[in-house]
Amino acid sequence: MMIISDLHMHSPYSRATSKDMTFKALERGAVAKGLHILGTGDFTHPRWREAIKRELVEEGGFYRLRGGGKTLFAVTGEVCTNFELGGRSRRIHHLILLPSLEVAEQLCEALSQHGDLLSDGRPNLAMTGAELAEAVVELGDDCLIVPAHIWTPWFSLYGAHGGVNSIRECYEEYAPHIYAAETGLSSDPPMNWRVSELDNVTLLSNSDSHSAHPWRIGREANIMDMKEVTYAEMVDTIKCHKEKVATIEVDPAYGKYHWTGHRSCGVSVPPRRAVVMNGICPVCGRKMTKGVAERVEELADREEGVVPKGSQKFIRMLPLCELIATLAGKDVFSTEVQRRYWGILNHVKNEYEVLIEASYDRLEEACGADLARIVLASREGRLEISPGYDGVYGTPKGELTSDDVKGRNASEAPKERLLRGGTNLEEYINDGR
Ligand SMILES: [Zn+2]
Ligand SMILES: [Zn+2]
Repeated sequence: MMIISDLHMHSPYSRATSKDMTFKALERGAVAKGLHILGTGDFTHPRWREAIKRELVEEGGFYRLRGGGKTLFAVTGEVCTNFELGGRSRRIHHLILLPSLEVAEQLCEALSQHGDLLSDGRPNLAMTGAELAEAVVELGDDCLIVPAHIWTPWFSLYGAHGGVNSIRECYEEYAPHIYAAETGLSSDPPMNWRVSELDNVTLLSNSDSHSAHPWRIGREANIMDMKEVTYAEMVDTIKCHKEKVATIEVDPAYGKYHWTGHRSCGVSVPPRRAVVMNGICPVCGRKMTKGVAERVEELADREEGVVPKGSQKFIRMLPLCELIATLAGKDVFSTEVQRRYWGILNHVKNEYEVLIEASYDRLEEACGADLARIVLASREGRLEISPGYDGVYGTPKGELTSDDVKGRNASEAPKERLLRGGTNLEEYINDGR
């Protein structure tokens, strides 16, 4: 079975999270999107754990809405470790996956020695990455710690501002317990293939969503080939079978930190130019925020275009709401865009059917010719995006011509991976790389 999961999100107890973030809203959003498994997010917060207990019931190591629902929830959360290394302070986010609320209670008891778990859904902890990893793996083989959005300039494993240069530097003797890494929106698998130590981990993609709307959840996700849909099988697949995990990716240019830049001055530059400029903003003379593309160049020990043995597959797409908004030249939450989105959903199984599986004819029938064209362009990597930088999302501009495509991301050969007539997920993941 092809199971699609988005394991990283936040509850209303995290800063900047929408009040619509309830389990009922998440269920609705997941069904619309086509997601089977969602992370609960924020298991470290006692109030959110109470909500889980009140509103969900346990099932195979997952949880489901009391009274029934289609979506399974995995107990997940994110914490930030603060520690000093080489005289500099390092602040790194980690995603944690747990088999039950009981284990979550145990872990929270240990973590509460290092920080105030009530202060935020994603608490700050005064401990090293290794100490956190020890606390997690001590609780069982099915407790996973995953470095979150590993390239984000702030708060990540490889982050240019406050991260480290390797998995070992962060997790020390616990590095062998790191089975997966979350790539984040601003990087895609080919960028991660440049760093050979990542060959040993499973690349995961999640939305890190602060809203339950299908515009946000599942914009990045994991497709896992699972025999049984249990938490134990999911963890085993992540730990031991990376060949059974493919990811759903936005164009990395859509991410908020793809290029180097300075938000308040409206300046953004590609990696090579940023190096020439010494990372200095030409408008105000201050340091720019180093983008993911530049940071990947710094840590890369492989040329661009090399596909490592055993690398995972991925599918590229932007959320349907984003594509409709681009076409309409309107805001995503405008009445026109939302009406068209939910109108289309009345005629299809779910959003992923449109984005991944539907043939062109089916797309045209369900969405109209204008939208069908742009969905195809998004699938094939022909959608022009002005790159995000310093916390500003990238903006889709429209379709590229075939000449433009040749010069761009030549190594990725998107058409090889994405069939014009849509993708059969089962064949897609099983034909091996
Ligand atoms: Zn984070
Ligand atoms: Zn500036």
